[in-house]
Amino acid sequence: MNNPRPLSGRLVIATHNAGKLKEMTELLAPYGLECVSAGALGLPEPEENGTIYAENAAIKALAAARATGLPALADDSGLAIDDLDGAPGLFTADWAGHPRDFAAAMARVKRELEIRDFEPQGAKARFISALVLAWPDGETLIAEGRVFGQLTFPPRGARGFGYDPIFVPEGETRTFGEITSEEKHGIREVDGKLEGLSHRARAFIRLVAKAGLKKVAG
Ligand code: IMP
Repeated sequence: MNNPRPLSGRLVIATHNAGKLKEMTELLAPYGLECVSAGALGLPEPEENGTIYAENAAIKALAAARATGLPALADDSGLAIDDLDGAPGLFTADWAGHPRDFAAAMARVKRELEIRDFEPQGAKARFISALVLAWPDGETLIAEGRVFGQLTFPPRGARGFGYDPIFVPEGETRTFGEITSEEKHGIREVDGKLEGLSHRARAFIRLVAKAGLKKVAG
């Protein structure tokens, strides 16, 4: 593998989503980068017209990198429900409407399962995250992660964001809305291997390896 391109100094977090921004900032904290969000820089949100998560993440990361002359990191993610043939998938954010209403989006998930005669409680689902790190000259690094689990209703927990209160990851009894941010996307070293629970943490572990990011002391 080629040596990864060095990354230091300022990095744009190419998101206008407060929940993602918090998680990505926390994930990047050990790496000594100065993170600034696309929202804080007043960058517009590009149209996400890709057909896969990685394409949408690349659209966001490249737009921010080109607009600022800085490297940029973007996440595109979604919730895929088996009994809904992977929906809402790429349209996960859209199901929350404008302005975003995730209580309504979670109620829609339940309704869409019920009208197809599927049992919402325990429905199999997965969260997917594609992270793209882009440079202003168009170079990109892509990493994906996913976490399998099941849905629960009514929503539980006030932590996290988006659909967290209806998602119970495999091996847990609590929803992503009930566990702490450290439990959701903290990265632990187990037998010399990095492990994380959430889709974003798992994508991030792969990105760190590809980008050759090193923790800084302190
Ligand atoms: P997009 O990546 O901007 O298209 O938006 C993805 C949508 O998926 C977000 O608005 C959230 O509703 C949802 N989502 C992605 N990751 C998570 C998560 O970790 N917890 C809860 N919802 C999530």
